[in-house]
This record gives sequence, C-alpha cells and structure tokens, in this order.
Amino acid sequence: MVGIMHIVEPLVYIIGGAVVVGLALVLQHERRQATRLVERSRELERLSSELLRANRMKNDFLANVSHELRTPLNAIVGFVDLLREGVYGELTPRQVKPVERIEASANHLRHLVDQILDLAKMAAGRLDVHRETLDVRPFILDVASEVESLLNEKSLSLSLVMGSALPKIRTDPTHLRQILVNLLGNAIKYTDEGAIVIKTRVLQNKAALAEGLPQPVAILNGPAAPWLSIQVIDSGIGIPVNHQERVFEEFEQVDAGPRTDSPNRGTGLGLAISRRLARLLGGDLLLASEPGKGSTFTLWLPLVEPASTAAENSPHPG
Ligand code: ADP
Repeated sequence: MVGIMHIVEPLVYIIGGAVVVGLALVLQHERRQATRLVERSRELERLSSELLRANRMKNDFLANVSHELRTPLNAIVGFVDLLREGVYGELTPRQVKPVERIEASANHLRHLVDQILDLAKMAAGRLDVHRETLDVRPFILDVASEVESLLNEKSLSLSLVMGSALPKIRTDPTHLRQILVNLLGNAIKYTDEGAIVIKTRVLQNKAALAEGLPQPVAILNGPAAPWLSIQVIDSGIGIPVNHQERVFEEFEQVDAGPRTDSPNRGTGLGLAISRRLARLLGGDLLLASEPGKGSTFTLWLPLVEPASTAAENSPHPG
C-alpha cells in the first residue's frame, strides 16, 4: 500500500502541475487573442472613420466643384441665348448651327452639373424634403404638359389613366416633379413609336405588396397605410433583365442614346437620382421591362406622410 502511495503521490503532483501549466498557457493565449481582437477592432474603427471622412470630403468636393461650375455655365447659356435671339446682331446662316451646338452642349453640361450636385447633396444627407399637400391629378397633368413638345417631336401619344377621385398626397412637389419628368423624358427618348401611358392607382398596403412594393418599404409606413402608385409605361426598346438593376446605378447606360449635342442625350444619372428621391420621399422606384416590348417604371409613394417625418416637420410647441 505504502509502495503504491509512493508512486501515486508524485504522479498526482506531476499531473496537477501539468494541468496548472496548461491552464496558464491557455489563459495567456486567450489574453493574447483578446488583446489582438481589441487591436483589430480599434484598427477597423480607425479605418471606418477614415472612410467616412474620405467619403464626406468627396461629397463636399463634388458639391463645391458643381456649385462653382454652375455660375460660369449659367453665363454661357444666357449669353448664347442672347446670341441666338439676335440681341448682338443677326447671326449669319453659317453661324446658326455652331451657336445651336454651343447652346445644346452648355445645357447638357449644366444638366450634368445639376445632377452631380443633387447626388452629392443626397449622399451627404443634405437634400431637404419640403412636404406640401398636393392634388395628384392636376399635378400630373401639369407635369405631362411639360413634356408635350418632346412628345410632339416624335409623334408619340400620351394617355393618362387616372381614377377621377384621386386623393391628395403629402409629399415634396419639386422632388416628385423631378422624378416624373425624368421617367417621362426617358420613356419618350427610348420609344420610337406607339404610346406612353401614365397610370395612377391607390392601393392598400396588402394589395401594394402583392403588386411588387418591397416589404421593407411597406413596413416603414405601417400595415394600414395606403400607397399611391404612379406608373410610366412605354412601348419602346425595353431593358434587358441583366441591366434592370444596373440602370439605377450612377452613370449606367444600356445604350448611351442620342450621342450628338442633342439636349436629349443622356447622362446615366437620371434613374439613380430618381430612385434615391423616391426613397427620400418614403417610397421606391421599380422597373419591369421586356426588350423590344417596352418598360414600366412604377413609383410608389406613401399617401400619408410617414409618421417619423410628420413628427419632425410639425411645429414645435411654444
Ligand atoms: P440617361 O440620362 O442615360 O437616360 P438614366 O439614368 O435616366 O440616364 O437611364 C439610364 C439608362 O437606362 C439609359 O441610358 C437607358 O439605357 C436606360 N433606360 C432608362 N429609361 C429607359 C426606358 N424607358 N426605356 C429603355 N431604356 C431606358
């Protein structure tokens, strides 16, 4: 018995010692891992704040440059206009075309600069929403009259399918107009024959979801909120499936469209801006299209002002 104890006792000490050393090693390893993790998360924090700063600087740079470019561009557009109107003397027949091209190019550049300015403001969260109560029907009729000359140039017809009892909506008229003018301008630009249709409908949340309103957008407005859908439908060239999401990205064009100095040539920014504006208004902009048959752009807008923004916009007591 004593002999066995002689063997077991040192063994217990050896095993105990080994366990203690093992535990110490594990503890040290864990501590090292924890220190490494803290260091890595600090590094990630530093990188992410650097990225945010760089992004802010890029947006500020874009906003400042665009702003500075606008002033001389406005002067160019203004003076070319006066030249064309003959304020500085009648233009000779040889001068007419080049002056028109200067005007078209300057207008295109101004449009591009305006769009970049809009995008920079949106990225910086500095594009404001000023909601007003709008009568949908007269508003859409007014926007449609804005593109009438473009329609006539291409002999396209425009039909409006709107219920007679369209309700009022609380939204930003400037942003809504910008989206609709862009959608209608595109519909006209990419359609050679046939018709363009503007269709408006009011749908309850459930029906809107069934019609394609994305769930996360629907949730934002509460389950009982009604939605306004404004569709711009054309019978034009259509957009292939693999481009249907990409066209909403900045500077994406399936087909660059008219390449000349025509004021109609594209920038590839219109849809990117329109979708962001739609989201800023609490809605979304979606596309369904079939090449050769046409495209349908659906703008979803909450009919009632989203609760969060209503609270922000309401006057402070006192
Ligand atoms: P752009 O100024 O080039 O029209 P947009 O962002 O408005 O820029 O549109 C991006 C691209 O999406 C266009 O260049 C065009 O290829 C395609 N697109 C937009 N609207 C239509 C449409 N109604 N029919 C066919 N293609 C369209």
